[in-house]
Amino acid sequence: MASIAIQDVRKSYGPLEVIHGVSLDIDDGEFVILVGPSGCGKSTLLRMIAGLENISEGQVAVNGSVINHLPPRARDIAMVFQSYALYPHMTVSKNMGFSLKLAGVPKREIDEKVLSAAEVLDLKHLLDRKPGQLSGGQRQRVAMGRAIVRNPKLFLFDEPLSNLDAKLRVQMRSEIKELHQQLSTTTVYVTHDQVEAMTMADRIVVMNSGHIEQTGTPMELYDKPLTRFVASFIGSPA
Ligand code: ADP
Ligand code: MG
Repeated sequence: MASIAIQDVRKSYGPLEVIHGVSLDIDDGEFVILVGPSGCGKSTLLRMIAGLENISEGQVAVNGSVINHLPPRARDIAMVFQSYALYPHMTVSKNMGFSLKLAGVPKREIDEKVLSAAEVLDLKHLLDRKPGQLSGGQRQRVAMGRAIVRNPKLFLFDEPLSNLDAKLRVQMRSEIKELHQQLSTTTVYVTHDQVEAMTMADRIVVMNSGHIEQTGTPMELYDKPLTRFVASFIGSPA
């Protein structure tokens, strides 16, 4: 269970500020999508929440506690990237259990958690395969399985579907939403694809050049875009 409070967060690389004072509150269980053109700062914001980038100014709190200085491992957050980065020499089962093994979880418990995640993701029949023997969609499910077994407070997705073909992308959208309905884990999902944002989000955050342009439900953004940028971005084809 996690609510997130992002307060006036800024990020600079050397003299260049790329995130200009972003504030955003995310409720427990919400599925929030950050959307915006390439280079607008989506990944940077996500990576700061995950602890993979330090925060130059401002703060991020989870359930009321500031996490700025916690290392990634201590944040209880799982991140799924577009490149699945599975271990090629390990079976699906080992891939899914590896982070638990590193954390010293007993084998019996790892097996239970892997099995229950495999059930949720329809991977039970593939547990003994290696990543090279899987389709793109199956690999993406294994990547999600690795995140789920840790039972994290928060899921972060960075363009998880952009390497998949169009048909599979549409299928995986509904699988990710079903997963969210089952687990109710607070989720921040990054995409540059407006259609993905409009069809998947409880709430959309439209970013542009390092700031938030508008936040609202898909209907709110569609009906009442506050800026020309939002209107043209939401209205343009993917
Ligand atoms: P998005 O994910 O929306 O495409 P990013 O968060 O990756 O955007 O990048 C935001 C801005 O920060 C871009 O201008 C990018 O060039 C810059 N940037 C990202 N990472 C670095 C880095 N490690 N060093 C310098 N600039 C970076
Ligand atoms: Mg990115």
